[in-house]
Amino acid sequence: ASLQQKASFDALTGALNRGNIEPTVEAAFGEAVHARTPLSVLFIDLDHFKKVNDLHGHTAGDECLLRVTQRIGRVLKPGQAIGRYGGEEFLVVLPGTAADEARAIAERIRECVRERPVTSGETSIPLTVSIGGASRQPGELSWKHMLERADQAVYTAKRQGRDRVVWG
Ligand code: GH3
Ligand code: MG
Ligand code: MG
Repeated sequence: ASLQQKASFDALTGALNRGNIEPTVEAAFGEAVHARTPLSVLFIDLDHFKKVNDLHGHTAGDECLLRVTQRIGRVLKPGQAIGRYGGEEFLVVLPGTAADEARAIAERIRECVRERPVTSGETSIPLTVSIGGASRQPGELSWKHMLERADQAVYTAKRQGRDRVVWG
């Protein structure tokens, strides 16, 4: 059981690890196609996180990753999943959720990260996130394609100045 847990969850943040969140997207996509229900995903990338490590150290950086995961988790409801996709990038899966509702969730996540700094010991660390979202389009049959649109939307959010939600 403990080996299985290691394989499923990211040790630092408790989010699903990448090997688990991708199959989660794939399954949710299959369900959306089959049941003709909406599906949205969000890529959430911490802004200027390299600077956080440079300024405050890697341990404080690690604490930021945990706190941000917890804040995202508080916005989500049962059935919605969060995975750590890469170093400081998370993927949220929102089954049954169309673009309008998913955008509102993304904005809530963005707000709850920026509204107060993360504290690590005596240090107060302001953080923001850039979020790229995508919803399954009518007739779309590739979950990877949907993820690709969300991923591109993150790049657009970064280019436009960060701390924002962009839809792909
Ligand atoms: P951007 O706003 O463009 O996303 O800038 P960024 O600095 O966040 O992006 P970049 O990809 O240049 O750097 C990501 C940083 O995230 C660098 C790396 O040290 C840090 N990072 C990745 N994984 C971890 C981790 O597990 N712990 C800590 N403390 N830092 C991590
Ligand atoms: Mg980043
Ligand atoms: Mg990144």
